[in-house]
Amino acid sequence: MKSPLTKNEAQEKINLFFAKQKFTPEEMKKTRRLAMKYKIKLGHYRKKFCKKCLSQLKGKTRILKTHKTIICENCNFKNKFKLS
Ligand SMILES: [Zn+2]
Repeated sequence: MKSPLTKNEAQEKINLFFAKQKFTPEEMKKTRRLAMKYKIKLGHYRKKFCKKCLSQLKGKTRILKTHKTIICENCNFKNKFKLS
């Protein structure tokens, strides 16, 4: 059995993952699972992947008064983010 990570180690893994230029939805799934397991908030990293298909988020960006919407190139899902 694999020894469990500490929360810091898990956070480190997540930071390294999002530092990559490219990732696949499969890798994203694993990372999200890791984050949930260790109750780590993805915070601003959530802007890096599509909520629906978990692929790397890139596409048309629309800025509204309170939100920013990024339409996923892969599945056309509108990812809404609060403007901060
Ligand atoms: Zn998508």
